Amino acid sequence: MTRVLVVEDEPQIVRALVINLKARKYEVDAAPDGATALQLAAARHPDVVLLDLGLPDMDGVEVIRGLRGWTRVPILVLSARHTSDEKVEALDAGADDYVTKPFGMDELLARLRAAVRRAEPVGGGEGADDLVTVETEGFTVDLAAKKVNRDGRDVRLTPTEWHLLEVLVRNTGRLVSQKQLLQEVWGPSYGTETNYLRVYMAQLRRKLEGDPSHPRHFITEPGMGYRFER
Ligand code: CA
Repeated sequence: MTRVLVVEDEPQIVRALVINLKARKYEVDAAPDGATALQLAAARHPDVVLLDLGLPDMDGVEVIRGLRGWTRVPILVLSARHTSDEKVEALDAGADDYVTKPFGMDELLARLRAAVRRAEPVGGGEGADDLVTVETEGFTVDLAAKKVNRDGRDVRLTPTEWHLLEVLVRNTGRLVSQKQLLQEVWGPSYGTETNYLRVYMAQLRRKLEGDPSHPRHFITEPGMGYRFER
C-alpha cells in the first residue's frame, strides 16, 4: 500500500482527494495545516506528500523545508498561485513537482504515481530491515549481538540506552517521533515524557559521540523527535 499525506485546508478539496485516492487503494492521512502535517509525516512515514502551499498556520514552503531536514519523501505541491517565482521557490526548497489548481484528478494521480515511482530505491530497497551491523567512523553497532564497539572496546549501555539506540539505528536516516520512541522503549502508556528522551539521548551522546555537544550521529529535530545518521 502506498501511503499519501494530504496537506490541504480546503475541506472540499480534501474530500475529493481522499475519495479518489482511497478508491485507488492508497492509504490516506490528511492534515489541515502545516504543524499537523509535520507531526503526521514524522509519525506515519508517508510514501508521498501532496502539499497545498497556502496553509492557515505557515507557508507550504516552510513545510517543505521542515520535511527536507530529515526525509526524501516525494513532495507534490498543489499551488493556486500563478507566479512562477513561488513554484520555483517550492522546487528550490525541495518539492519534486507541482500541480496548479484547479487541477484535473487524472493529471494529479498521474503525477502522484510518477513521483512515487521516481522515489523507489534502485536495486532492491534500503536494506534497513536486514541490517545487522552499522558502522560509523567512531563506533560500530552490532544489532544481532547487541553490542557497541568504540575504539576496539565494548561500550557499556544500559538496556534502556540499548533499546533507544536500536530503534534509532533501525531507522537510520529517518526521523523517529518522540512519541514513537517513548512508546517503543518505555511502553505504550508513555508518549509525553520527552524529558526521558533528553536525558537518555544525552547519555548516548556522551558514550558514543566524538563531541557530545555537537552530535553528528544522534540528531535532535526540535519538537519532533530524533534521527540517527551514520
Ligand atoms: Ca489553501
